[in-house]
Amino acid sequence: MYHKYEKKQLSSMTQKFTKITLLILLSAITIGFAQEGEKRHLPIIDVHVHAMKVNPAFASDMCPWFLTSMPGGDPLDEAPTFMTADCAHPLKAAKSDKEFQDALISTMKRLNMTIVASGDASVIRSWQKAAEPGRVIPSIGISNSEAMSVVAFTDSLSSGFYKVMGEVAPQYQGLSPSDMSLDPYFAAAEKLNIPVGIHMGTGGNGTINITNPKYRASLGNPFLLEDMLARHPKLKVWVMHAGYPLIDEMVALMGANAYVYVDIAGMIWSYPLEEVNNYIKRLVQAGFGKRIMYGTDLMIWPELLETSIGVIENATYLSFDQKRDILFNNAVRFFRLDESKYK
Ligand SMILES: [Zn+2]
Repeated sequence: MYHKYEKKQLSSMTQKFTKITLLILLSAITIGFAQEGEKRHLPIIDVHVHAMKVNPAFASDMCPWFLTSMPGGDPLDEAPTFMTADCAHPLKAAKSDKEFQDALISTMKRLNMTIVASGDASVIRSWQKAAEPGRVIPSIGISNSEAMSVVAFTDSLSSGFYKVMGEVAPQYQGLSPSDMSLDPYFAAAEKLNIPVGIHMGTGGNGTINITNPKYRASLGNPFLLEDMLARHPKLKVWVMHAGYPLIDEMVALMGANAYVYVDIAGMIWSYPLEEVNNYIKRLVQAGFGKRIMYGTDLMIWPELLETSIGVIENATYLSFDQKRDILFNNAVRFFRLDESKYK
C-alpha cells in the first residue's frame, strides 16, 4: 500500500515537474519569439516606387541586370527584346494587385521599410491601409502641362495627401526639365516646400527609338536642370536614376548645387552590375555619399526590393555608415522626415 502510494505520489510529482518544465520551456520559447519579433531590421527608405494596377498580359518574369548583353539588331528584322527570364533566378512578376500588395507589405514589414510611391491613387490608398501608418508616402507625377492644370496640381498638393512631386519625366516627352511649360509646377512645389524627383538619364533599354520616338538620350543630361534650379533656388530636387550614364555632368551639377540629391533606382537592377557599382562608387568617391538615396523603380516584381537592397549591402567599397546613409539617413534629411517614427 505504502509502496503503491509512494509510487503514485512520485509519478504525480514527476508529472507536475514535467508540466512545470514544459511551461517554463514554452514561455522561454514564446519570450524568445517576442524578443525576436521586436528586434526590427534597420530602417530602409525606398524613394522610388510605382503604384500601378497589375496587367497580367505584361506581367512577365525578369532577370535582374538584363542589360548586361545588349542584343545586336537590324531595322529590317523584328524588334529586339531586351528583357529575359533566362537566368538561374528570374524575379517573378505578380499576377494580381492583391498578390503584389501582399508581397510588398510583408517585405516592407520584414525589412522595416518606408516607400515614396507615385502612380495610381487608388493603389496608393490601398497600400496605405495595409501598411503601418506613415510608411507609404504619396507622390504626384506630372510630365507635361497637358496632363494637369497648374491649379489642379496645386490643389492636389495643398490637400495634404501628396507629400512629394514625382516622377517628373519630361525626357520621355522630348522636353528639357527647364522647359518653361513646366515652370509653374516647379514654382508651386517650391512654394509649398514639396521635394521633386525628376527622371534624368536612363531609359529605353536599347530600344527606345522603336517604342517612344519622342525620347531623347540628350535630354537626360543633368546640366539641363541648371536653368530651372537657378529660377527656383529653394526647390529641393533629386535626380532619379542619378543621371546615368552621365557621371561627370552629374558630379558637376551636384558640386554646383548644394541641394541636389540623386536616387539609384532602375539602374541598380537593370544595367550590368559592375557598371552600377562603378557608378555609385564614383558618386561616393566624388564626395556625394550624403546625397545618394536608395530607390528601386519597383513596378511588378516584389523581389526587386531584396535584389536592389542586396547591391548596397554587398558593396565592398561602402562602409557601414555609407550604406546606412544611402539606405536611410539621406532620405530622412531630404524629405524632412521625423527619424524617430521610422526606427
Ligand atoms: Zn524614371
